[in-house]
Formats: sequence, structure tokens, C-alpha cells
Amino acid sequence: MDKINIKKLEVFGNHGVLTEETVLGQKFLVNAVLYTDTRQAGITDDLEQSINYALVCQFITKFMQEHTFKLIEAVAEKLAEAMLCEFNRLESVELEIEKPWAPIRLPLQNVSVQIERSWHKAYIAFGSNMGDKEQYIKQGIEVLKSTRGCEVTKVSDFIHTEPYGGIEQDTFVNGCLELRTLYPPKELLNILNEIEKNAKRERIIHWGPRTLDLDIIFYDHLVLADEELIVPHIDMQNREFVLEPMRQLNPYFRHPVCNLTIEELLNKLKKKK
Ligand code: ADP
Ligand code: MG
Repeated sequence: MDKINIKKLEVFGNHGVLTEETVLGQKFLVNAVLYTDTRQAGITDDLEQSINYALVCQFITKFMQEHTFKLIEAVAEKLAEAMLCEFNRLESVELEIEKPWAPIRLPLQNVSVQIERSWHKAYIAFGSNMGDKEQYIKQGIEVLKSTRGCEVTKVSDFIHTEPYGGIEQDTFVNGCLELRTLYPPKELLNILNEIEKNAKRERIIHWGPRTLDLDIIFYDHLVLADEELIVPHIDMQNREFVLEPMRQLNPYFRHPVCNLTIEELLNKLKKKK
């Protein structure tokens, strides 16, 4: 992706572990690489089509003056998050916070922390088969919408399906949503688990009744597996109630392990039946 580079922006701030640092303040230097598509701005010569780097510099300065953190790790983390939420066209940012005057009583030229943070696209499947099912789902979606660092970009229709896994229980309401998120996969899972818990979900029987189930189906094209989290979701290719709503959201999305599109996975599953 294209980049806009900001080098050595000087900000006087009060970040540091020592009291002297928070009282007296010191100089920080910020390097930022803004990842954005500049093609349209390049063709049209229109600032509206790009990210205004003057505004970005003002934003960084204001943020670093208005907040105080002990660690430059925290300055970088919080600033990256704030920038990604503030500037629409910013897909990803590389940030380096330099602290040239770090008071360590040794002849150090410079110390810095450098991070890269991005927006990611995830697909989440939702399901409910207890109580006011649609209401539990709608509530869950509302919580996600109001979570900082999460943007719900698409929601499929709600579909009504028969229970799965051979346990006698009420029919399900299912669907999927597309999420733009700043959270890494495990943190996203924790957020979803928290929303499930607030919907009073009880995990009594595996695959048993639940007020709200939220599963990560895809996270970008990432492949990940451990005891806590498996992405892409391990059984999604066998679940019509996931594939149907996924087809509504993005039929061309290619499963990174099966190497088939959603459309192809769905056709394959229907043939099997
Ligand atoms: P299920 O979704 O299979 O009906 P649960 O919702 O009770 O069952 O999930 C059990 C566990 O599955 C969760 O605690 C979570 O750690 C794990 N898990 C593994 N991969 C995923 C995933 N992709 N999305 C959600 N949970 C997952
Ligand atoms: Mg689940």
C-alpha cells in the first residue's frame, strides 16, 4: 500500500516513569508511516481524497500533550489507536516514539519504541436458541457497534435453522456479520465472550441451548490454531447456517485453508447432502 511519511515531529510532553519527567517534561520525536491508498488523490489532485498530514501532525501533538503515560510503549499504543479511529482513510500505521533525552545517566543517543497497528476484517457468526432470540442477537450487535475499535460494516439476514449436533432443543436464529476491528484475534475472542456472558449465556451442555453464541469465522486470511482459538472456524465449511449468511456478506471470500470461496464451499456442502 502507499505510504505518507512523517519524520521527526517534535513534541514536548510529560511521559515517563519518574516524577521529574512528568513534572518537567521533555522532548519526544515522532515518526509515522501512514498506510493509505493515494491513487485517487494522485489522479484528482484533491486533498479530500487523501489524508491531510498537517491535520495528522496537529492530532499527534495535541494527543501527546493532553495525555500522560509512563511508558513510550503506551504512548505509541494509544496514539496509534486514536489515529486509526480518527482518520478514515488510514488503514494501517507505523509509529515510532523517540525519547532522546531519556534520563538514564548514561551517554545514550536515543531510545525509541516502534509499532505497527492496522484495521482488520473479521467475519463473526451469531446464533441464539433461547428466549427472545432476535433480541439477544440485536443487543449483541449493538454492543459490538458501540465498542471502540470495532465497526460493524455488514450484517446478514437472520435465518431460522434446526438445531445442530443431535441435542433436542429449540430452533436457532443464525447469521453473520462483517467487522472492521483494531483488536488482535484473542482480544476479539475475549470481547465476544464478554458479550455472550452479558447475554446470560450458560455453558451447560456443549452444543446445547444458548442465548447468544458468537464465533470468529475468519480474521483477514489468517490461519491460527491453539487450544483457545481456531481460525478459520474449524467447522464452518460443514454449517449451512454459517455459509448461507456468509454468502450474503461476501460470496467471493476465499477460505485460506480449503482454498475454496464461500460460494464453492456452500455448493460442495449442498451436494454432499
Ligand atoms: P461452539 O461455538 O462450538 O458451539 P462454544 O461457543 O461454547 O461452542 O465455544 C467453546 C470454545 O471454543 C470457546 O471458549 C473458544 O475458546 C473456542 N473457540 C475456538 N475457536 C473459536 C472460534 N473461531 N470462535 C469462537 N470460539 C472459538
Ligand atoms: Mg462459540
